[in-house]
Amino acid sequence: MAYATTNPYTGEKLKTFPDATDQEIQTALTEAYDAFKAWRQTSFAERAKVMTAAAQILRRDIDKYARLITLEMGKIYAEAKAETILSAEIFEYYAAKAEELLAPEKLPVANAAEGDATLIHQPQGIVFAVEPWNFPYYQVARIIAPQLSAGNTVLLKHASNVPQCAAAFDTLMQEAGLPKGAFRNLYAARHHTEVILSDPRVCGVALTGSEGAGTIIAGIAAKALKKSTMELGGSDAFIVLDDADLEKTVKWAVFGRHWNAGQVCVSAKRIIVADAIYDKFVEMYKKGVAALKAGDPMDPATQLAPLSSQKAADDLLAQVEEAKKHGAHVEVIGGPVPEKGAFFRPMLMTNLHKDNAARLWEFFGPVTQLYRAKDDADAIRIANDSPYGLGGAVFTRDTKRGVKVAEQIYTGMVYVNHPTMVKADLPFGGVARSGYGRELIGLGIKEFVNHKLIDVVDIDAPF
Ligand code: NAP
Repeated sequence: MAYATTNPYTGEKLKTFPDATDQEIQTALTEAYDAFKAWRQTSFAERAKVMTAAAQILRRDIDKYARLITLEMGKIYAEAKAETILSAEIFEYYAAKAEELLAPEKLPVANAAEGDATLIHQPQGIVFAVEPWNFPYYQVARIIAPQLSAGNTVLLKHASNVPQCAAAFDTLMQEAGLPKGAFRNLYAARHHTEVILSDPRVCGVALTGSEGAGTIIAGIAAKALKKSTMELGGSDAFIVLDDADLEKTVKWAVFGRHWNAGQVCVSAKRIIVADAIYDKFVEMYKKGVAALKAGDPMDPATQLAPLSSQKAADDLLAQVEEAKKHGAHVEVIGGPVPEKGAFFRPMLMTNLHKDNAARLWEFFGPVTQLYRAKDDADAIRIANDSPYGLGGAVFTRDTKRGVKVAEQIYTGMVYVNHPTMVKADLPFGGVARSGYGRELIGLGIKEFVNHKLIDVVDIDAPF
């Protein structure tokens, strides 16, 4: 698996890290479970103290943390800082809300003879988190803040190209005062997934990643009868209705498809435009994309970052070539991008008709799939013609009409007049091939707890 830091802007391999040994995995499991036995007894206030400290450290050392993201996966520095702040906000959210979200719930029973029924939410053990590189901190915060706040402990297997970001979060939680073993980064090898998930001290796995990894890891979890949550790929529709404010909508479309160099599960990957405004929209969109300045991700003037690795850029190009074989028309937009670094010139893809299988693929980089819709119903049809079901967006001046369209799109999230957002206090997750389960808010913190019924019944109650 070869954990290594390779700067995508320079192509330089800077540091490598050996895979964890089998013994290290066993030690981590033992320490994580020992930590769990004490951590589950702590009060919400004690856990909140650790979450708050983690947020404070992230805010205080934001430059150090953000630089590491840019170094390892090439994200624009300003976006890396925003991600660091978002991660702090997630810790703060659960510091403030965990107790309320997991408060015991009295159940309204129909008959007094059913007793005094209460649902309590108890932690269950170690959660295994497998995370991707595209948001090296946010993805980790999204799972450890709720799970640690609930009283579980967490072992992390991060993506192999962000080993220093993974280690930085390990150090962060120690500095924040988390007991030893309660969260640990492991440079786990592939075969360790089965070892970890078949261990009885592990209660489940949370994966964020590709559909391929989802199929394998959900399969291993199923074999071990362990709960899993799957946050997988997406090909979000960005619908532009005929009454949309074109200027503002185009700005959001350009941003929605190109932030994080287009490597976002909820990027606006399929732009679907009403016939009446299609030509004008496309002209303005191309102009907007062509104006993006590609360059050094540390330079504040840069708007288009390199992809996460040269391999990612090569694979994306190969996927575009494959789409062409299926009949896709592809147009390169804008001037040349730097030759050095894993840059990818933005592309526009059309002719994605019903016999072109490429319309169903996720393109993880700055490739825009473009569709012309006859009317609202046709836009909804195109949006739903996808194996994925993650997010989506509808742009219109008439928000009631937007909500009506949003209700008919089969995904986990739809925004009216904004590309799919990532925030600390909004849920995240999808349906269909985009996976199952939800992260963040009350939904996320309840994924790996035992929803236990305690019912106190009058011993003299009638049979
Ligand atoms: P990926 O290859 O599936 O990698 C994600 C994580 O899974 C990495 O830590 C990877 O480790 C690990 N992994 C992959 N195969 C594995 C296996 N057989 N056993 C154990 N671990 C395995 O995903 P990616 O291509 O890097 O990331 C992009 C994908 O993630 C896109 O499809 C994107 O849409 C999706 N994503 C979804 C969300 C969401 O919330 N729904 C958010 C972000 C990204 P290695 O690096 O060591 O291979």
